[in-house]
Amino acid sequence: MAINHYELRQAVIDSANMLVRTGAISMSHHGNFSVRVPNTDTILLTATSSFDNLKPENLALLDLDGKLIEGEINPTNAEIVHMHAIVYKERPDTGAVVHTHSTYATSFALASRSLGCSYEALVRSDMTDGIPLAKYGPRGSVESVSNIAKALSVTKNTKAVLLENHGVLAFGVNPAAAARANLIVEEAAQMAIFAEVLGGAKNIPAELLKATVGRRDEFTNAGIRRA
Ligand SMILES: [Zn+2]
Repeated sequence: MAINHYELRQAVIDSANMLVRTGAISMSHHGNFSVRVPNTDTILLTATSSFDNLKPENLALLDLDGKLIEGEINPTNAEIVHMHAIVYKERPDTGAVVHTHSTYATSFALASRSLGCSYEALVRSDMTDGIPLAKYGPRGSVESVSNIAKALSVTKNTKAVLLENHGVLAFGVNPAAAARANLIVEEAAQMAIFAEVLGGAKNIPAELLKATVGRRDEFTNAGIRRA
């Protein structure tokens, strides 16, 4: 049987594998990943709770209310549909969402701490406001989902949310961008934890953040330079 949206499914698997390959993930490789079917309010979501052995047919098609349209999903992942859906609803330009328990980022979440913008890669990845913390609520509960919405509404320029006592949720225009946001957040969290030993990470001052974004855009707009 032919599978619908094969390339989208494969893009999710490639991006999930990137997170495993780089080590930006907890030891269990727990995670779930979704991608928006372009120009619709439906998503394809990984139906298993680990990034190991993902296959294109393991993604289920759902709408943003959590209704299963096609495929199958295990009970654990049925719980997390709304956690993904809220990001698509709050940020309509989102094309993909990834949830992991990335070790360093999750350490911030366990310590009930947001992550400031001290690492320049966060600026370049559109996270100048740092990574907010969504207060804890049981997984998939109305409370936990509304806490994610709240965190996103107060923190405009970000591509991720730390889930208190739980993990990290990252998003982007497509699966590669969402996975990259997760990776950069994990790097930033790792370095911030190491920086604690040296007196703590210092956030980039607001006026310099603006200058850094301007400089990035200047070079991006100039395009590739060839000799
Ligand atoms: Zn989780």
